[in-house]
Amino acid sequence: GEELKAESIDELAKNHYPLCMKTIHDRLRRDQHLKHFGRLQYGLFLKVLGLSVEEAVVFWRKSFKRITDDKFNKEYRYNIRHLYGLEGKRANYPAKNCLQILTSGNTTDCGCPYRTFTPENLNTALLSAYAPLGLKASDLTEITQTVKNSHFHVACTRVFEITHASYGVKKGEAIGGESVTHPNQYASGSRELWK
Ligand code: SF4
Repeated sequence: GEELKAESIDELAKNHYPLCMKTIHDRLRRDQHLKHFGRLQYGLFLKVLGLSVEEAVVFWRKSFKRITDDKFNKEYRYNIRHLYGLEGKRANYPAKNCLQILTSGNTTDCGCPYRTFTPENLNTALLSAYAPLGLKASDLTEITQTVKNSHFHVACTRVFEITHASYGVKKGEAIGGESVTHPNQYASGSRELWK
């Protein structure tokens, strides 16, 4: 398929990301930095999305605007290559799934927002992220109730359905019949529909 470019990531984030990755991406843009776990989680997500290691280096170099090339090369380049299995143990690290994200201790930086956000912050984040894709304020009652019952991935699935209704996705159909279990499944399911 078409090669994913560093410069298309903002567009992808806007149109195809689940809320967890959207939150990390927006934080990266706001702070021009991400802490270790955020970089790890987002870096692996982007790898599975199809970003090559070369484009990943471009993406992170451009995103960390406040640091010098020297610091970037010394402190970050190795870690990016490591995510791609090109350094250290040369392991093929998978991207984290929803269960791992939901149960990770890292709730403030890069957990599942359906679980970690207060109800008010979640509603604000949902409308800001997904109103342009068709989510309405009136949809939030159902989402809030689902979250209250601790069915976080069900809430995420419902948001996918609502924001892809114009592509013919109906309630209960989710992503090809599957509910959300992985941020990459969400994003690739969304990109598939747009093709
Ligand atoms: Fe991300 Fe999964 Fe939470 Fe959705 S349910 S926001 S994909 S961790």
